[in-house]
Amino acid sequence: MKITVLGSGTSHGVPVIGCDCEVCRSADPRDKRTRSSVLIEHGETVVLVDTGTDFRFQALRAGIRRLDAVLMTHAHADHLHGLDDTRSLTHAKPLPVYGSQDTLSEIRDRFDYVFTKTQIGGGKPNLLLQDHRGDRIGIGGLTITPVPVKHGDLTIFGYRIGNFAYITDCSGIPRESFELLEGVKILIINALRYRSHATHFTVEQAIEASKKIGAREVWLTHLCHDVSHKKLTEELNLRNSDTSRILPSYDGLEIIVDM
Ligand SMILES: [Zn+2]
Ligand SMILES: [Zn+2]
Ligand SMILES: [Zn+2]
Repeated sequence: MKITVLGSGTSHGVPVIGCDCEVCRSADPRDKRTRSSVLIEHGETVVLVDTGTDFRFQALRAGIRRLDAVLMTHAHADHLHGLDDTRSLTHAKPLPVYGSQDTLSEIRDRFDYVFTKTQIGGGKPNLLLQDHRGDRIGIGGLTITPVPVKHGDLTIFGYRIGNFAYITDCSGIPRESFELLEGVKILIINALRYRSHATHFTVEQAIEASKKIGAREVWLTHLCHDVSHKKLTEELNLRNSDTSRILPSYDGLEIIVDM
């Protein structure tokens, strides 16, 4: 299975509009972060996690030609508002969009035109909303386990496939969800910045959660402009060992997961 990090940035993206900080002015391509999303490919099966604001650009950059399904983590703008741009990938058949009941109801509200009957040629994505109810999902050859996590007061979803898991916008992992994550070896998890935040893990909190899960390869995502890719890599490498490592992810990163 191949995981491609389509976007590794927080809701603003990096650079932030109007900001002149060192990271926003950085020439390092790994400091250019579009909104968080990953693509999962296994054999013929192609699954996207979230349709962020940068989805169109990310799909063109990654050469996405088809999708079997979308998994939604939650309905915040930076994870959802590129949904309309799945349109060209829904001509052949409706695209299943999996999420919690809350997320799907937000999708129905914000994209009401998609679900309202209009004239032919109206140019809308053909979407099939699927409430996963927290139950396992089968897509192609993949079995996907939704993992509830806290995002401030909200309960949102990460997703586990085999020994890989993707968790974004998390500020707390309930005990039962740690159980769902037992045995995960390769983990992408959010770390907004060094300073604390009400609805996101810091770098330290993400490291702590990763250790508790026992993952041996950890990539941080949903990073903001407080974080320089080079500096954080250097800091983390001082703590990394041959058997476990934590590093900042970046747009375009590809991770191979043995299945
Ligand atoms: Zn977010
Ligand atoms: Zn900045
Ligand atoms: Zn969010």
